[in-house]
Amino acid sequence: MRRLDQLLANLGYCSRRDARHWVSDGRITVNGAPAKNTSTKVNPSTVLIDGEPPDHPDGLLLLLHKPLGLVCSHEARDGPLIYELLPDRWRARNPVVTTVGRLDKETSGLILLTDQSQLVHRLTSPKHKVDKVYRATVDRDLDPGLIERFAAGTLQLEGEKAPCAPAGLVIRDARTAEITLVEGKYHQVRRMFAAEGWHVETLHRERFGDLTLAGIDPGTWRELPLDQFDP
Ligand code: URA
Repeated sequence: MRRLDQLLANLGYCSRRDARHWVSDGRITVNGAPAKNTSTKVNPSTVLIDGEPPDHPDGLLLLLHKPLGLVCSHEARDGPLIYELLPDRWRARNPVVTTVGRLDKETSGLILLTDQSQLVHRLTSPKHKVDKVYRATVDRDLDPGLIERFAAGTLQLEGEKAPCAPAGLVIRDARTAEITLVEGKYHQVRRMFAAEGWHVETLHRERFGDLTLAGIDPGTWRELPLDQFDP
């Protein structure tokens, strides 16, 4: 049970102060009757807002196809934000909707967003070893020797205490590779290639665990059930 004004504010409909107007304007019903008081404790499943059930009252989990050029940050000064793709109401939610890990501004592909902080921790923890698959194109022909060097679990990146965990590398054509990581160090794919003397020219995340972008165009998303990753 949550206070009605808190429910409306946390789901991004309006401020707690404005909730009073929403109630006095008759926009909210509880158990079929017009709500009278914003301090009433309500079960979200009994509430209608402008005749509609509350929007994802238990939390939000999205699989989004990130286009190039957007940053996974909440700071407007960092550039155009990935969050600008989302409806205003979702951007106003509390807890805030945030990305599960980050993709660089110049990386496209699959990214999850959620307002469930435990899920973020779980899915970004190297302990859980969720496979992330990337497709990279590089500036010169790939060397098959890279496969072993990525797989060895000894590749050391500058400024990191531990070496990279073993990573999968499949050479798709002369300058295109598919890389599978179970961790998510800062700029990891680009830095792994740089450590070996290659420059990554394009980078796209194709898969996160079992999830792919099939049928999801750049800039759009699919809603996932909150129990998507339950054991
Ligand atoms: N590795 C990178 O270098 N960049 C990303 O965005 C993701 C993984």
